[in-house]
Amino acid sequence: RQDLKGRTVAVVGLGISGKAAARLALARGASVVGIDQDESLSSLEHDPSFMVLNSTGFKTVLGNFDWNLLNDADVVVVSPGVPLEKYGLSYLLQSGKQVMSELDFAAEALPKSVKILAVTGTNGKSTTVTFAGQMLNHFGIDTFVGGNLGTSLSEAAIQHVTSPTQECKLKVAVVEVSSYQMAIPCVYFRPSVSVVLNLTPDHLERHKTMLDYAEHKCRLFSHMTNAKLGLLSFGNQHLDEAVKKYWNKFNPAWIGAFPGLEIDTEAKIATFKVPDIGIESQLQLGSMRAMGKHNYYNAAVAALSVAGLDVGVHIEDINSTIEKLRPPPHRMQVVHKDIHGVTWVDDSKATNVEATYAGLMGLKGQKSVILLGGLAKILVGQVSNGFEELIEPLTGHRCVITFGASGAMIHQELSGNGLDIPCIQATNLKDAVEQARKVAKHGDAIVLSPACASFDEFRNFEHRGMVFQELALSS
Ligand code: ADP
Repeated sequence: RQDLKGRTVAVVGLGISGKAAARLALARGASVVGIDQDESLSSLEHDPSFMVLNSTGFKTVLGNFDWNLLNDADVVVVSPGVPLEKYGLSYLLQSGKQVMSELDFAAEALPKSVKILAVTGTNGKSTTVTFAGQMLNHFGIDTFVGGNLGTSLSEAAIQHVTSPTQECKLKVAVVEVSSYQMAIPCVYFRPSVSVVLNLTPDHLERHKTMLDYAEHKCRLFSHMTNAKLGLLSFGNQHLDEAVKKYWNKFNPAWIGAFPGLEIDTEAKIATFKVPDIGIESQLQLGSMRAMGKHNYYNAAVAALSVAGLDVGVHIEDINSTIEKLRPPPHRMQVVHKDIHGVTWVDDSKATNVEATYAGLMGLKGQKSVILLGGLAKILVGQVSNGFEELIEPLTGHRCVITFGASGAMIHQELSGNGLDIPCIQATNLKDAVEQARKVAKHGDAIVLSPACASFDEFRNFEHRGMVFQELALSS
């Protein structure tokens, strides 16, 4: 790792990962300037988490800033929320300035002995990394789980850099990677196992085309170390195109075909065949408590990835962990069974149509009132926003309630395409819950699986989920 003592690091974007990167830079002895366009943020000079570090060389610049702050810095670290088109960052990168993603900056500071399992995809990332972490922890392997989910990789690096002995106990970092984090090609972030779970339209406001979105995801395969395992979703034309140039860099395996893994959802068995890394085995998924067939895939992918890391955990051993796997909150989370015999399920994390589709498929005959709404991800240039895809999994349920900024549009898209169950339009989430309470019958579930972003009413999907849970518990 480069010595940053006496050098200047500019961190652009002071969200969770930007702040962590700034602290890491300080811990590595650099002078740091933290920049954010949001003037309402409080300066970090007096933030307790910065004061424990030697923060004399730290300043925060909020609002407009002098571009020379970037140009004069030795290293520029860019938060995932900041597009490269802003602040001349692309220009700086092309001109040879060391412009790094937070992920790469963190990976540079981690010892090479830490094996990285990187997971990306449109849906299921957080659940898969959580499952992989639970499996590794079960076998006592010191594991960091984070990245786009929860704790930034920089936090793991800070722990290492600030530990008095610098002896690193950490064996594995399981990292959730968003396409935004891959905007800048990585140099130090070199996974031993990389996964692209699936790819469906999302974040097209930033990526513009599906191929561009696929190319960002596939950058995970560009820098693999020891040519270990690369797992990707089978039969996706954009992924097939984007991955071509990395094909000889790793042992490829498919999610949904061999070499790779296939799942018999009826028998609840995953079969693995990846001869290149000596894996030929099966996993029994019947004891899984997490709701939904998509979780069979998430668990099987996690199992193959963990086995592919080569840290002494074999697929056969993983059978004993399946029953204990727990997805993170707000993913088909059963939050309450009320006195009227109604089960409340929080799937607030379903922020697009595919995620809701997967959630509904997981309801397995459970008659439900489904709450759809929020801020829909508008598909530019398409005749619809894809909600008609939900008609099939909604069939046979009690009722749909739409709400929020896109409630009317969803109502129209569903009704105009032959939805054959009642569809009620509510104003906001609270109203939707009240309406749901009126129509739900004993034995039903009320499921918030909105298929939309939350920003019309809430700070984020977690906030929406917490409000839903409070409303559920107040019944
Ligand atoms: P991400 O981190 O990629 O956003 P999560 O694990 O948080 O994904 O799951 C988000 C939502 O996507 C869940 O609420 C669930 O309904 C759906 N989902 C989870 N796993 C999958 C999968 N493998 N395929 C499709 N949808 C999924």
